[in-house]
Amino acid sequence: MTSTRKPLIAGNWKMNKTVAEARHLVSELVPGLQTVSGVDKVLCPPFTSLLAVAALLEGTEIGLGAQTLYWEESGAFTGEISPSMVAELCRYVIIGHSERRQYFDETDATVNRKVQAALAHGLSPIVCVGETLEENQSGRTSEVVVRQIQRGLAGLSAAPNLVQAGPVPLIVAYEPVWAIGTGLPATGEGANAVVANFIRTPLAEMFGEAFAQSVRVLYGGSVKGSNAAEFFDQPEIDGALVGGASLKATEFIQITQAARKSTSDSH
Ligand code: PEP
Repeated sequence: MTSTRKPLIAGNWKMNKTVAEARHLVSELVPGLQTVSGVDKVLCPPFTSLLAVAALLEGTEIGLGAQTLYWEESGAFTGEISPSMVAELCRYVIIGHSERRQYFDETDATVNRKVQAALAHGLSPIVCVGETLEENQSGRTSEVVVRQIQRGLAGLSAAPNLVQAGPVPLIVAYEPVWAIGTGLPATGEGANAVVANFIRTPLAEMFGEAFAQSVRVLYGGSVKGSNAAEFFDQPEIDGALVGGASLKATEFIQITQAARKSTSDSH
């Protein structure tokens, strides 16, 4: 981490927790998370729990995020949730998670529409990119990640709210698919190199160096309390998108504490 970008830890609960279970988890998380300063903390429960979690987070500095959205404003799109609906409750939205790409046919083109819609509604999109095991093993990590950045974020310089006062709303998460939910994380150095070369470099080519340097880039893939520091000690990694460990209060709090420690160490 560097001292110029504020660390962010987001918990992606995926399709877990009923409303009652979500309330219970939040009640376990809030006291611990509130003791961790200098780190943005974000919870991303399923749509059905957003309202209940929003109520419990009121008056705290813990942010709320959705796990996806649809780009249309309203209408005959059964099962979908519009950007305004998300923005009414949330500040963040995960876009293009590998599970959305794998099981729900999301492509760089649909990711792009969703990112544009999120920014237009004042949301901070957490845009996920990352190569599969097969792509990694065949030496295509660079090609895949650069393409996902270039196509997923194409045309964004014209997006409303992209450049505004305060922190840049766009957030990118590097999530190698082979590390998600496998218990086999990338190495800190390996992830740092991908972020530097295949995420920040294309961002700089597209939007300029200053913008590329102010975008927060998270690492995701089997992060837990005991390995988080390895990622946060890297200069290009600004936090984590956490799946499995975000469902365990003590683990998630420990990850935010590791982020806090890494920022104080870099001052
Ligand atoms: C994720 O789903 O974004 C993720 C990183 O999952 P896990 O932490 O369980 O690997």
